[in-house]
Amino acid sequence: TARISIRGLSKFYKDYLALDRVDLDVRKGERIVVLGPSGSGKSTFIRCLNRIEPHDSGVLMIDGRVIDDRTDLTALRGSVGMVFQNYNLFPHLSVLDNCTLAPRLVRGVGTSDAKATARRYLSQVNIAEQADKFPIQLSGGQQQRVAIARALCMNPEIILFDEPTAALDPESISGIVGIMRDLTEQGITTVCVTHEMGFARHIADRIVFMDRGAVLEITPPEEFFTAP
Ligand code: ADP
Ligand code: ADP
Repeated sequence: TARISIRGLSKFYKDYLALDRVDLDVRKGERIVVLGPSGSGKSTFIRCLNRIEPHDSGVLMIDGRVIDDRTDLTALRGSVGMVFQNYNLFPHLSVLDNCTLAPRLVRGVGTSDAKATARRYLSQVNIAEQADKFPIQLSGGQQQRVAIARALCMNPEIILFDEPTAALDPESISGIVGIMRDLTEQGITTVCVTHEMGFARHIADRIVFMDRGAVLEITPPEEFFTAP
């Protein structure tokens, strides 16, 4: 069965149709990239997947379970993590504490277990040496890697990325490409909104192209980037 199954998903902001009957199935470990003009509904779409935005009609299923207004949002957001464009790290917490907070408070994981897990994921994204620093002391690329490690600490099945490379230099971007490929090897499914065509081409298994709230095309990158 599909890890994410979406049928006829629609979303309004007042009377503005921001998502127009979107259909998509995503397999375990697949990397989906969502492209489209500014305002086409890309952010709205991924925010519906962990119900930061509730959809208005259609069906969203994660691992065969229907996501609706009865869904336990804490559990959902544990299994569907999100990495935000501006990282959204807690500025008053160290890197390590950023990574242990949710496992401790939401999952009731003990402090020493949470720290051990955090150090493991910080190592995976090659930022373990910065564990005791504060976010402001890190570069954008480093903060982005902390944000990914923080998401991983909740042991998610799916990670959503909103413009993960927006503020990054080319070297940091290639680091993120490597990390996203590693996630797939761990069986984690990723759905990523981006404007960066080069990045999209490197990481996408399939590209979902949106315009005015609708999905116009779902294609492998080699087709998407070949002129007709
Ligand atoms: P994209 O990510 O493709 O730039 P968005 O999903 O952010 O597109 O936005 C799609 C449309 O919905 C835009 O016209 C945007 O202004 C509008 N929109 C997004 N969020 C809200 C909101 N919270 N309230 C009202 N309109 C919104
Ligand atoms: P992006 O295009 O990068 O997705 P935006 O700058 O369009 O982001 O939106 C930033 C925030 O403002 C989001 O939380 C979005 O939901 C909200 N937003 C966007 N458009 C509107 C709108 N027309 N009315 C109210 N909120 C909006």
